[in-house]
Amino acid sequence: MAMAGLDYSHVREPDYNPDSYRQTPEVTRWIEHTGRQVLEIWKQRHDLRKSALERAGEVETRSRTVYYDTDNISENQTESLRLCRDCPGVWKIVSHSSRGKRILAIHVPRKGCRRCSETGYQWYEKENSRHLDAVYLQDRPNDAFLTKTNRPQTGDRY
Ligand SMILES: [Zn+2]
Repeated sequence: MAMAGLDYSHVREPDYNPDSYRQTPEVTRWIEHTGRQVLEIWKQRHDLRKSALERAGEVETRSRTVYYDTDNISENQTESLRLCRDCPGVWKIVSHSSRGKRILAIHVPRKGCRRCSETGYQWYEKENSRHLDAVYLQDRPNDAFLTKTNRPQTGDRY
């Protein structure tokens, strides 16, 4: 109606109850807490970068869980990044979804240095785990994409 230039001020959404959309105080506190944490990390960004560069050549690993509410899929990720002075660093993720699929994905970044590129290809070549459904290598500097699968593809969604 608005697009047609008609008066829509009398339109009411059926069964609309503003209280059912109200954010709980617990959620507000959690958002404030997260905001303070992110701000503290951002304030330390120069020291964190310096500290990471002092460990150049080491591989840093973290794990996290991501929930995709649009498809009701949980994903467990273990990410590893080679800290590097010369480029953003080669990066890999072992991903396991609640649908049962497990993959390893390796990413050599654009402008990735020779050492990181070699590390990425070593990770790819050495990975022969039977617990993985597939291993991928994306090599941005050389515009290459490699795949190896350990099990026949069934057409299931990851
Ligand atoms: Zn590098």
